Amino acid sequence: MKAAVYRGPGKLKIEEVKAPIIEKDDEILVKVKVSAICGTDIKTYLHGHHAFKPPVILGHEFAGEVVEVGKDVEICDVGDNVTVAPFINCGRCLFCRKGVPELCEKRYFPSNGSFAEFVKISQSYAELGIAAIPEDIDLQEAALTEPLACVINAIDDCKIQLSDKVMIIGAGPMGLLNLMVAQLRGASQIIVSELVAERRKVASDLGATVIDPTKDDLSSFISELTDGAGVDELIIAVANTETAESVLNFVRPGGKIMFFGGFPSSSSLTLDPNLMHYRQVSLLGSSGFTPQQFKQAAELINHGKINVSKLITHSFPLQEIKDAFDLSIAHQGLKIVVSI
Ligand SMILES: [Zn+2]
Ligand SMILES: [Zn+2]
Repeated sequence: MKAAVYRGPGKLKIEEVKAPIIEKDDEILVKVKVSAICGTDIKTYLHGHHAFKPPVILGHEFAGEVVEVGKDVEICDVGDNVTVAPFINCGRCLFCRKGVPELCEKRYFPSNGSFAEFVKISQSYAELGIAAIPEDIDLQEAALTEPLACVINAIDDCKIQLSDKVMIIGAGPMGLLNLMVAQLRGASQIIVSELVAERRKVASDLGATVIDPTKDDLSSFISELTDGAGVDELIIAVANTETAESVLNFVRPGGKIMFFGGFPSSSSLTLDPNLMHYRQVSLLGSSGFTPQQFKQAAELINHGKINVSKLITHSFPLQEIKDAFDLSIAHQGLKIVVSI
């Protein structure tokens, strides 16, 4: 099969590789139709990643069609459209037992990454890590189930209450997904700070109050909007520690700060410990998702409760994946998908 093989920083090549084949009665073969580019793919491509040692096929946000199943498979049929989670948790390790399966140390993975024609999983994997996609749902949208699941994980931890005021730093695809899920959770006002005009426009179209941090004075803006109290929840969806430090005071006493975006390794952050002591602000972080959140994400897309189509700005064939990566590196557009 054709696949985009990552061979070290800056090296991504379309190669002919061995396709996964059904060898056991409980296996499921999925023809990948759409695989979206994620920040993690870009980070790996540019700088390498401890979890993706080259040569390896990247890609983990995808949807496709079941094309072959072993004879014991009951969970899906040939011809079904599905989206597949890029990992499932083991259910047995310390973190799974402690109720944070998204931190599982013994994750299971599909046969290979999704910038390839086929991916194989087992039926037991599918029980936790597959979601059916109805015929009328575009597979480009279904491919965004995984990033949406990651956002649900963060918003669940934020415990947004009806009529809360939420501030989101950054309106990249993940910031915008946070905006959509926070709205669904009943936030009455969502303020989005973003440098890029086109991204502010999308956030504004989605109903956010937008700010250009290079022009507006964020501090007085937030103070005015919240009668001097600060926002209930602050979600940081950028990878810049200076930006993060500059916004920590915008949360109200007793409020929550969610570090959603991953930072470069060995980053450090300076903060006043009295933010937590006297002001009782909670610092939270989030990465990954639980099987339940993956299924919830698929349900929300399938039933039109979250419209991710607004985030998909470009589509490239697999052969042109390098151009797709270059576009993403240049911060052009929002979600870029690869059709396979
Ligand atoms: Zn991702
Ligand atoms: Zn585990």
